[in-house]
Amino acid sequence: MIVDYHMHLRRGQVGKSEEVDHTPAAVGPYLETAAERGVDEIGFTEHIYYFRQTREIWINEYERQRCVHDLDLYVDTIVDAKRQGLPVKLGLEVDYVGERQERLTELLAGYPWDFLLGSVHYVGNDAIDQEPGIWAEHSVEEAWWTYVDALTELAAGGAVDVLAHPDLPKIFGRRPDPSVLAELHNQIADAAARAGVALEVSTAGLRKPVGELYPDAPLLRTCVERGVQITLASDAHLPVDVGRDLERAVVLAREAGCETVTVFDGRRARQEPLG
Ligand SMILES: [Zn+2]
Ligand SMILES: [Zn+2]
Repeated sequence: MIVDYHMHLRRGQVGKSEEVDHTPAAVGPYLETAAERGVDEIGFTEHIYYFRQTREIWINEYERQRCVHDLDLYVDTIVDAKRQGLPVKLGLEVDYVGERQERLTELLAGYPWDFLLGSVHYVGNDAIDQEPGIWAEHSVEEAWWTYVDALTELAAGGAVDVLAHPDLPKIFGRRPDPSVLAELHNQIADAAARAGVALEVSTAGLRKPVGELYPDAPLLRTCVERGVQITLASDAHLPVDVGRDLERAVVLAREAGCETVTVFDGRRARQEPLG
């Protein structure tokens, strides 16, 4: 089985600006690309800060500007597609928000999620994956520890089912010394194992300055050794990117010892043979 469990529901073409479109008409092109690339099931995971129902949570301009869309429309669109028997799952990309996490979880209660991705894009007001962000006033090692501590807290809180792009701080190619990096990997793996959350193997990093899959092979091996299960993800922001490069993610996963992939239904995980 091949799943793609990370994508954002948009309309648009390569080279043109993407537009948020959470209407049923937007779903078809994602399924077409999935079918072409041999992806059996896709999971939509819009950014949680795109929805006005979560507006009270956001403190920075980037998120507040985007927080204008209707969560009910998004959920209804995916639920309707599921009712028609289409191979889609209802997810969301949930941000780490520190002490506001509990309130954010309350706002998401009552929706029929299949799975929730957990992402650390910001710690406080410092962006991890934008420049200058956290990189302006922190050493590489400090930035990584800040990120990994946040990811650990997010995993432990029980609010999410999967850790998305788990080694995101490498996005611009900055990594601490190998011995420190190994410690950071251990902490991520321990956090995932203890919380029983899956680790996302994402091809999005191939399209970023670092030009690598998230996670890298050493981190994935460290996680697999502790019994952590995986999902597969493109992080597509346009239909054309659904399933992109997943064959490379499958190779990485197999080399790390994975034989199964996680499938979610109503936030319950089960394993299916990988590939
Ligand atoms: Zn993300
Ligand atoms: Zn994403």
